[in-house]
Amino acid sequence: MTTPHILVTGSTRGIGAAIFDLLKAKGARVVGHGRADGPEALGADLSDPAAADELWNRALARLDGRIDVLVNNAGVFEPVAVDASLDDWQAGWGRTMQINLQASADLSRRAILHWRERGAGGRLVNIASRAAYRGDSPAHWHYAASKAGMVAMTKSIARGFAGQGILAFAICPGFTMTGMAEDYLASRGGDKLLADIPLGKVADPEEVASAAAYLALEAPPSMTGAVLDINGASYVR
Ligand code: NAD
Repeated sequence: MTTPHILVTGSTRGIGAAIFDLLKAKGARVVGHGRADGPEALGADLSDPAAADELWNRALARLDGRIDVLVNNAGVFEPVAVDASLDDWQAGWGRTMQINLQASADLSRRAILHWRERGAGGRLVNIASRAAYRGDSPAHWHYAASKAGMVAMTKSIARGFAGQGILAFAICPGFTMTGMAEDYLASRGGDKLLADIPLGKVADPEEVASAAAYLALEAPPSMTGAVLDINGASYVR
């Protein structure tokens, strides 16, 4: 079997790092990404509207002109209060939409064009969030909206391009114990939040990585369009 070539965004820490490590351990050739160039990551600040497209070009060159799987994982979870000034409010919305949704769309677009050109199909794995379905805090509507957009985008791609062998999946993690979630848990009183999760624990990045690797490498084609929840039954659809 040909070694799969994979681009994982936001692989410098948290969930992305776990996905990167697991895919490598499974024998894939993986290019990672972070805000700045690093030993195992191409640098691209996705708040810059031109960055995602440039990242695709660099990743493609690094992977000798073939990418089989794109994992859109990079994302921010930044608050913007309803009583912020209009300028700050719009800047907060714009930044979150740019990084979480537009950059993912720009990369997905390039992936689809690449897969169509090669005629070999490909797989897209988008890391969305439980917030897409459940909503989020009063200071995170934009985050929830960006992730709901990601789910809708995934389903559209699955339906629109399945005939060309292009498969699209999304994962909706609940709280996952990374730097981001630790801050959040602390700010929300820790244990109280855990009481809302029937499993009694937040997810580990490795659990999300396990689902991502399955979708990237193994999931049957008929699963295309599927959205997998990883939230300890804190939100069941
Ligand atoms: P994290 O903050 O630990 O890591 C985020 C990654 O995205 C980093 O590698 C960072 O470099 C990259 N990134 C952020 N802003 C960027 C920018 N402007 N340009 C380039 N790269 C940028 O986050 P995480 O908890 O590992 O989250 C990963 C994904 O999972 C995100 O999309 C997040 O929304 C989603 N998610 C996380 C949780 C959670 O509780 N941790 C829950 C649901 C969904």
